[in-house]
Amino acid sequence: MYIVHIASELAPIAKVGGLGDVVYGLSKEQQKNGNRVEIILPKYDVLKYDSIKDFTLEMSDLWSFESGSSVHNTVWKGEVDHLTTYFIEPHSQSYYFNRGHIYGSSDDIERFLYFSRAALEFLYKQGRKPDIIHIHDWPTAIVAPLIEYLYRDLGFQVGGVVLTIHNIQYQGKCTPSHLTRIGLRGEDFRSFDRMQDPENLFCLNILKGGLVYSDYVTTVSPRYREEIKTKEGGSGLDSVVRAYHSKIRGILNGIELETWNPAKDPHLPYPYPPNPTFIDTVRKQKMENRKALFDKLHVQFTNTPLVSCVTRLTKQKAPHLIKSAIHYTLSKNGSFVLLGAANDPETQQEFNHLKDYYKDNPRLYIGLYFDESLAHLIYAASDAFIIPSLFEPCGLTQMIAMRYGAVPIARKTGGLADTVLDVDDPNIPSEEKTGFSFETADEGGVHYALERVFKTFYHEPKQWESLIKNCLNKDFSWKKSAISYQKVYQLALFKNTPLCAVS
Ligand code: ADP
Repeated sequence: MYIVHIASELAPIAKVGGLGDVVYGLSKEQQKNGNRVEIILPKYDVLKYDSIKDFTLEMSDLWSFESGSSVHNTVWKGEVDHLTTYFIEPHSQSYYFNRGHIYGSSDDIERFLYFSRAALEFLYKQGRKPDIIHIHDWPTAIVAPLIEYLYRDLGFQVGGVVLTIHNIQYQGKCTPSHLTRIGLRGEDFRSFDRMQDPENLFCLNILKGGLVYSDYVTTVSPRYREEIKTKEGGSGLDSVVRAYHSKIRGILNGIELETWNPAKDPHLPYPYPPNPTFIDTVRKQKMENRKALFDKLHVQFTNTPLVSCVTRLTKQKAPHLIKSAIHYTLSKNGSFVLLGAANDPETQQEFNHLKDYYKDNPRLYIGLYFDESLAHLIYAASDAFIIPSLFEPCGLTQMIAMRYGAVPIARKTGGLADTVLDVDDPNIPSEEKTGFSFETADEGGVHYALERVFKTFYHEPKQWESLIKNCLNKDFSWKKSAISYQKVYQLALFKNTPLCAVS
């Protein structure tokens, strides 16, 4: 199949969170399976150019459309770990992608609507005929209505369109005039069966446009597919999700096993043995990595458990529960390392206060920034890893933690509930148990889980060891997920074949 991902992120060159990891990991697996895979991204000024090979000019004169005028673009091509990637660079006064960040501008709606239209224009002008266009979250969801209302009429041939919802909380609410800017008749979309926002009837909702007009939609875990049709989980789009539920599939993300390979990880001073069943060597290497981590971060080395957390510090990730986990762990003489990227000043201040509060405690490190390399070392050095999220569509960190032999402690929500199987659940076979989970998103829930972590670590060493073994043996490769995506692609293709339309 010829598959084109139109996306706002791609790890490692433009990554904010899991979306970037998914586009990379899924594309790699699809390519391995013999598909022709391409990715289209904005040419951000913050691209990590050292990870792009053979950066060359692909098209010097792509003319796209905005507010009734033609806008000149250059399209570049590069190889990101053998994945062919195109980069759209607009030449306009708006400098849409020269903002020093991927998201976070006041005109994000304009930026990504523009990009989506330009990406389609590129495929159309080049005469490409993808079997599948795969779009991701609100930034590129408008591609589906654009194909339906503009590009099919122009003769653009595409087999099917699939949208993946990585996080339904971000929806891209906008006005009809935003759509008019990129050549659609905005007012025409203000009805329930089209793109009207269910909560604010004067607004349009770009993610809803993707939901309505894509052939198939996927969520990043089976449980999230169910959660988003409820009032609590649907962030206002639950009625739309219920209306289109039959075309939604839940497919658990994988993790990219070469990037996350503790036996070959260049970020680890002490790699793990190639065979994870050598559990004693794994634990020995973990200790050595911990010494290296603690040296680097000036944390005092002890033999007590190290609990860690690597995350974006947004509301979804429950910063208040992370704080509570820090208090609890330190009160039990454990160590805690938090690597948390915080964008808003309030959260930064909150955690800076916490740092001050514990400034004399040598067993705590709090870093409020993004650091890929440090993240790898933290996973490898930790005994346990906490993810207390309020909601979590899939979550990658619990899977990465398991692969690095750090036992996950997770709230029972979304993909966390699908992957972290509680050690004390009598319905789970012992070889399937992978961690500690808790239901309620409050301090009581966090303490309940951590209490069991400390008890198991100190008093049930055999149980602890078998948890580590189970984690290391889990298969979170993209293999299975890529097969499920391929099936969805086939359904999308089948839906658009003339034979099917007749029957
Ligand atoms: P989300 O996409 O909601 O941020 P995921 O668990 O799906 O959460 O993916 C998070 C990814 O981003 C993981 O690869 C994780 O290691 C990485 N990550 C998150 N925060 C940081 C950070 N502060 N520094 C380095 N990597 C981070």
